[in-house]
Amino acid sequence: MTRLPAATLAQLEAAGVQSGRPLLISDADEVLFRFVESFVSHIEERGHFFDWSSFRLTGNVRRTADGTVLDQSQIFSLLQQFFAERAEHIPPVPGAAEALARLARAGVQIVVLTNVPAAARDARRLALARNGMPYPVVVNTGDKGPAAAWLATRAGGPAVFVDDGPNNHVSVKQAAPGIACLHFVATERLAGLVDMPPEADGRPADWPALERAIAASLGLTCGGT
Ligand SMILES: [Mg+2]
Repeated sequence: MTRLPAATLAQLEAAGVQSGRPLLISDADEVLFRFVESFVSHIEERGHFFDWSSFRLTGNVRRTADGTVLDQSQIFSLLQQFFAERAEHIPPVPGAAEALARLARAGVQIVVLTNVPAAARDARRLALARNGMPYPVVVNTGDKGPAAAWLATRAGGPAVFVDDGPNNHVSVKQAAPGIACLHFVATERLAGLVDMPPEADGRPADWPALERAIAASLGLTCGGT
């Protein structure tokens, strides 16, 4: 378990994961929240557009006036501003809250592991609670493998990780090969731009399929019910 920053470690402890219960570690953006459509409308209001040519943000955000591609630091600023202004108001992915509630009732403990800026943590927690997903939130920076491995070790039983970002699956499988990895991209147009990474164990197309895959990964009989 490598180099977890103290701030992350404190949040992991506070998540209250219990030993001996199945664990779901879920990303937020593009799994629980419709990130891309919100971000695209945010940048369009500021004179930019997203050109949908690949899964990455870098290279795909352009100035509307002349088509100039924004560089990484400009995109980072847009993201900071986006989360500062909108983290509380990104619409949830349909079906996510209901599926998580069924899984929770079946005994699954749920932790949301998200790479938003630290300043957006309370807004994210509030938005989750307001949308029927009152689960602990851990704000992570960079690779998710070390934090996911820490949580899975604490749970000590079956664990499953859900994320849209291929790099996060690489990182989690490297850090904790025993965690089942499900690749999920809520926005269909975005999903069409990215293949399932070889590190992932499945690629459900929608929340009903994702719920079944999570339940199966955790050894529950069916759909969390
Ligand atoms: Mg995401």
